Amino acid sequence: MSFFEYRNGAMHAEGVALAAIAAQVGTPFYCYSAGALRAGWREFADGIKGMNASVCYAMKANSNLAVIRVFGEMGAGADIVSVGEMRRALAAGIPAGRIIYSGVGKKASELMEALQVKVGQINVESSAELETLNAVAGQLGVRADITIRVNPDVDAGTHAKITTGRKENKFGIDIDLAREAFALAGRLPNLKVVGVAMHIGSQLTSLEPYRAAIVRVRELIGQLRADGHRIDRFDIGGGLGIVYSNEKPPSIADFMAVVAKETAGLGCELTFEPGRRLVGEAGVLVSEVILVKPGAAKTFVIVDAAMNDLIRPTLYEAWHDILPVKEARQDTATIRCDIVGPICESGDFLAQNRDLPPLAAGSTNLSFSTKSIKKEIKTSYFNFTLFKNFILIF
Ligand SMILES: *Cc1c(COP(=O)(O)O)cnc(C)c1O
Repeated sequence: MSFFEYRNGAMHAEGVALAAIAAQVGTPFYCYSAGALRAGWREFADGIKGMNASVCYAMKANSNLAVIRVFGEMGAGADIVSVGEMRRALAAGIPAGRIIYSGVGKKASELMEALQVKVGQINVESSAELETLNAVAGQLGVRADITIRVNPDVDAGTHAKITTGRKENKFGIDIDLAREAFALAGRLPNLKVVGVAMHIGSQLTSLEPYRAAIVRVRELIGQLRADGHRIDRFDIGGGLGIVYSNEKPPSIADFMAVVAKETAGLGCELTFEPGRRLVGEAGVLVSEVILVKPGAAKTFVIVDAAMNDLIRPTLYEAWHDILPVKEARQDTATIRCDIVGPICESGDFLAQNRDLPPLAAGSTNLSFSTKSIKKEIKTSYFNFTLFKNFILIF
């Protein structure tokens, strides 16, 4: 089922006209489909059936309370990278025991708050963090359940800015140094090692990097057990890609089949931390055309959404589909244009060199009657959002 579609020539989200929402709340706004969020969640829930596994939603993909609540109601845990995210997860009803705290830069004060609320697991990413966490846990008189995130040095085959599992990336502990880190953790009295974690990148469209990384971590788990560590959990991370234009990301079922095969007999409880795959295709950014400015080289369509609303195009050369809210007729001639925001940065664009049907400037008087709306409103299919908050309309 498509949750965003044209009906009678107007783009709708779950049967509600986007133009009607625009009339009520003004533009720009993000609109999410709870149905799409639930459908995405169900794919993972079905995928882990029969496995000893759990799914924690990686909140940095979208930390809107209403979005988190949808997942929480369906039994999700949360993967967080700050105490701010932890508070949001708790506020949205996710039990502390289902929260995993990841990230390279946890402050002592944050670790303390996480231990006080009793998060389920802390994924440690450096020796310095092991020492800090040990000290904080000692102060509180508790033992912290930890995994150590290792960096398996595989190429995820994704954009340089979202690959995380190479030697030169800041994430995790180099797999070749992992045994030393586990030995240190074993000596620290206030830490309890429960497993190993990895997360090799985002927007992966091939299963091979997962297979390669799991094989490496599996070997490491054997060595760690021989060293006397108890390794009960294997946190696989997130990273499954989605379709922006013509990518062919693997199905959840195929992904789970590879994971099940490569972890068979390992005797570990598995954790998955999907983010983008759960929310990336479940929302749209709706923006109004302010004006159209024909230039010598190309036409600029200036809209009221900008790089502060959607940073991905300028940060990663990311592609987002752009569709007019009012469906264009099939025979409409297109014009080549850049879709840009009003910010004083040449990097402020949402799309470049697109062939779109002619777009007209919107009325400046927002009408509260749907019938009198004559504006052209564009939707940019929303995807991954970095640490941002958005208006959510159900
Ligand atoms: C970003 C991140 C994820 C989620 O990645 P997606 O590509 O959104 O699935 C999972 N775990 C960790 C530690 C992350 O940093």
